[in-house]
Amino acid sequence: MIVADRIDAVRKTLDEARSSGRRVGFVPTMGALHAGHVSLIERARAENDLVVVSIFVNPAQFGPDEDFTTYPRPLDADLAICDRAGVDLVFAPGTEELYSRPPVTRIVVSGVSESMEGAHRPGHFDGVALVVCKLFNVVGSCRAYFGQKDAQQLRVVSRMVDDLDLPVEVVGCPIVRDADGLALSSRNVYLSTTERERALALPRALRAIECAARDGERDTAALRAAGLRTLEEGGVDEVDYLEIVDPETLEALTHLDGSALVCAAVRVGRTRLIDNVLIGREG
Ligand code: AMP
Repeated sequence: MIVADRIDAVRKTLDEARSSGRRVGFVPTMGALHAGHVSLIERARAENDLVVVSIFVNPAQFGPDEDFTTYPRPLDADLAICDRAGVDLVFAPGTEELYSRPPVTRIVVSGVSESMEGAHRPGHFDGVALVVCKLFNVVGSCRAYFGQKDAQQLRVVSRMVDDLDLPVEVVGCPIVRDADGLALSSRNVYLSTTERERALALPRALRAIECAARDGERDTAALRAAGLRTLEEGGVDEVDYLEIVDPETLEALTHLDGSALVCAAVRVGRTRLIDNVLIGREG
């Protein structure tokens, strides 16, 4: 496995690979890797000839009061996970390699970036779009693997790729959960044992909405109320949002008619968690 911290080295390796006919699979991450990330790597392995993982905690997507400085950075453990998972190349640049000077260029993916995470984390998706576009420009033509865990991010990246004709095929991958239902996240390490128990209200609330929809409830206000009740009873400290939206446009739905995406963000102690579920596929 090659570990590179320079843009030039990554470009050279991948250009050579592509010119000998190898297909490149790319998994962008912020490190602190877990089984969710590994599922993306495995999918990339299965569908391509060479797998690249980037590890970069992107300052541009963190707000001033967010956890940029404390975000876990266990690089040695991450490299061992990548090696075991059969990754060919890890790109782990320092901040100065990607941002040699403060960028004055912005990529604003309007519409899909504005609600939910976008409304609660101003500038977050501008930071995501910029770094993902930069990483795509470094990696070049590839298939890129993103988790449905960050459903809005997946929509924002897909729309950016489409609008800018980037030579990238975006592949969305299912959410990986712990046995107790909590979606795996690098931020779960912040949770104490009792906070973790309270955090389980998040997947439980999504399941409650899914069950109510399956039982025939079509009114999204009633479905949201059921979810919010579960969150409150479970003891989460704050609900940033709980929305039922169109899976494509991410616009809020008043009525279930076909499939819908239920997205939520909550705070438990000092930890902010997001999760989502796709419901109503049966129509
Ligand atoms: P992050 O390192 O948190 O930026 O995540 C990197 C990629 O891994 C993103 O595409 C995430 O959506 C994906 N990811 C994170 N957690 C999970 C999970 N539990 N299941 C599937 N994919 C995930």
